[in-house]
Amino acid sequence: MIVVLKPNITKKEEAAVLRGIRRLGYEPRVLRGVERTVIGAIGDERKHHTLETLTAVFPQVESVTPIQKRFKLVSREAHRGNSTITLPNGTVIGGKKFVVMAGPCSVEGEKQLLTTAHAVKQAGATVLRGGAFKPRTSPYEFQGLGEKGLKLLAKARKETGLAVITELLSEQHAEMVAEYADILQIGARNAQNFQLLIAAAKTGRPVLLKRGLSMKIDEWLLAGEYVLAHDNANLMFCERGIRTFETYTRNTLDLSTVPIIKKESHCPIVIDPSQGAGKADLVAAMSKGAAAMGADALLIEVHPNPAEAWSDGAQQLTLEGFAKLMGELQPFIAAAGRD
Ligand code: PEP
Ligand code: MN
Repeated sequence: MIVVLKPNITKKEEAAVLRGIRRLGYEPRVLRGVERTVIGAIGDERKHHTLETLTAVFPQVESVTPIQKRFKLVSREAHRGNSTITLPNGTVIGGKKFVVMAGPCSVEGEKQLLTTAHAVKQAGATVLRGGAFKPRTSPYEFQGLGEKGLKLLAKARKETGLAVITELLSEQHAEMVAEYADILQIGARNAQNFQLLIAAAKTGRPVLLKRGLSMKIDEWLLAGEYVLAHDNANLMFCERGIRTFETYTRNTLDLSTVPIIKKESHCPIVIDPSQGAGKADLVAAMSKGAAAMGADALLIEVHPNPAEAWSDGAQQLTLEGFAKLMGELQPFIAAAGRD
């Protein structure tokens, strides 16, 4: 059930409604919008009619509506506006301004990371990506620098002012990764690792949830529901391609997720054309398409020397390739009515 509060109510009035919801046996989850506060009431769905009494008891409650979908807090029914996520460096994801997150697939060392960070910042990115814990298909491949990589990301943030996104691979690292990261990335292989999603949510950091390799959109939305249901409203979805019969590309980047996520959810949608295409020469076209379709942000892999990269060499843009793409994106961003 979704409880919508009237505009401009006081904290005290809001607290009274929250107490009322708890008294009826529901757990309230607050979604604070710019104009209005919306409360998701979680509990036994068969007894939801009891919540309807709230409108009679509390004048500050505007409406109480059931949500028909299985995903509730992530759904547009729960929150009609677009949710925005503000990072400590002022970057807003999901707002009027299009956001670009860029950096290497893996953090390999100080020079590689800092060179990339300065270059992507110069080109207009506001968030630095880089994996310190890497989910590799083979146990013999580079697994990431671990905490050393996180420290390098923090150093790059300090030098450039970029915010940092990095992957959280294991529940046991949640606190540590959250200490260094501004956004926790949940990778495709862990997209339905529900305990990991809960651990990520509980750190309080914004969460970027990749789509699993063979995940249906409703399963992806329900995975996102775990984050919001554990009191973390700062969730963004990230399409990174799914596995299909096609082998020309590494994955099939499903750009239909942009209008679909926008229709079904209030959470921002990010496109990762790098894992999506798996080929550097396709990244620019997919990025432009995503921007024009109304995606909120891009997550792009960039490396000073992709041929020598320790992971995902074939899909990483060079520093020059990234700068060129950034120079060409503007009309596509504008086509979607964004800055
Ligand atoms: C990555 O971003 O480098 C990565 C491993 O992504 P995914 O989980 O989408 O494969
Ligand atoms: Mn990668």
